[in-house]
Amino acid sequence: SFFGLPHQAPHERVLIAADEASGLRTLIAVHNTARGPGFGGCRVWAYENDLAAHHDALRLSQGMSYKNALANLPFGGGKAVIVKPKGEFNREQLFAAFARAVDSLQGAYITAEDVGTTTADMRVVQRHTKYVSGIPREGAFGGDPSPKTAWGVFVSVQAGAKAVLGRSDLQGLTVAIQGLGAVGWHLAEFLHQAGAKLTVADIDPGKTAKAQAQFGATVVGVDQILAAPVDVLAPCALGASLNATTIPTLQAKLVCGAANNQLALPSDGNLLADRGIAYLPDYLVNAGGIISVAREYRGEGEEQAVMAEVSRIAERVTELLARIKVSGRTPAAEADAWAQSLLVRA
Ligand code: NAD
Repeated sequence: SFFGLPHQAPHERVLIAADEASGLRTLIAVHNTARGPGFGGCRVWAYENDLAAHHDALRLSQGMSYKNALANLPFGGGKAVIVKPKGEFNREQLFAAFARAVDSLQGAYITAEDVGTTTADMRVVQRHTKYVSGIPREGAFGGDPSPKTAWGVFVSVQAGAKAVLGRSDLQGLTVAIQGLGAVGWHLAEFLHQAGAKLTVADIDPGKTAKAQAQFGATVVGVDQILAAPVDVLAPCALGASLNATTIPTLQAKLVCGAANNQLALPSDGNLLADRGIAYLPDYLVNAGGIISVAREYRGEGEEQAVMAEVSRIAERVTELLARIKVSGRTPAAEADAWAQSLLVRA
């Protein structure tokens, strides 16, 4: 349906905006503002068609409602997607036009970086609207959220390895990382420092070669990474990597990564559980970045305090794994129910 996702609460608002001069075509989805304004990044992607962009905006913004609720942030869920213009385009003009679209929502949506956008883009946005975060700020906390996201995923791997694999540390733990981008690279650094052995894949051979040199990582093809013989799989590329085709091939016992919308369908959470694989829901473990940009936006950020807050994601992972023992639900279904209860309460 064009209105909402199957089996889920409908979105409050979806803005579709276009600007001929810059080539902007954007969808800004505000899923739920019960806890506060919709807050979530802006993705630039070459979508196959406009409906694919619409679907992505709906799924990502709902994920933000859940993520922000579980992270106990005073924000709701929102997300923007920009259909990447074909051919040459002026980035500054594009983000100026995007900023005007954001501004027209008068604070119902606050933007930041996501896949395909940078801190430089957010600086441009900042010139045209105040509803933006993720910007390096002189003398104040701010900037690229990716290292914070990676830290949250890292502490979640620690908590998951303890609860699921009975590991008190990560020494010798084998981890496959799909995607060595802004988050995946930092995650590789944290895991390497903790003594984990890495297997990596990226469509960019320069990144995998660097990981091989710097971390002694084993490099495999992008079509092999999900089925790598490892303890932990960390999807850190794009969504829908866990689906009916890939799940039967997985060898990891724990899945914990940064990518949004890792499950192609909600039922894929059952497929993972049926195979005895513990899946730590993406929006629970990858909240480090939004915690960072939310604190920055409120002007109350400070490096150590934000890192401490991000570290507390591990406690919620432990709580989730305890909850499923009582409820008998899969981790994915339990996290959905937990987040939905927080939205209803708000
Ligand atoms: P990024 O674009 O910097 O990195 C993605 C990486 O994945 C790139 O290196 C790309 O080459 C690689 N890649 C793409 N397709 C691949 C494939 N099929 N196999 C292997 N590698 C592939 O993005 P990012 O900021 O690191 O984000 C990664 C994921 O984490 C995204 O899904 C994003 O939505 C999510 N996420 C990011 C943040 C953040 O703070 N940046 C926060 C929450 C969630």
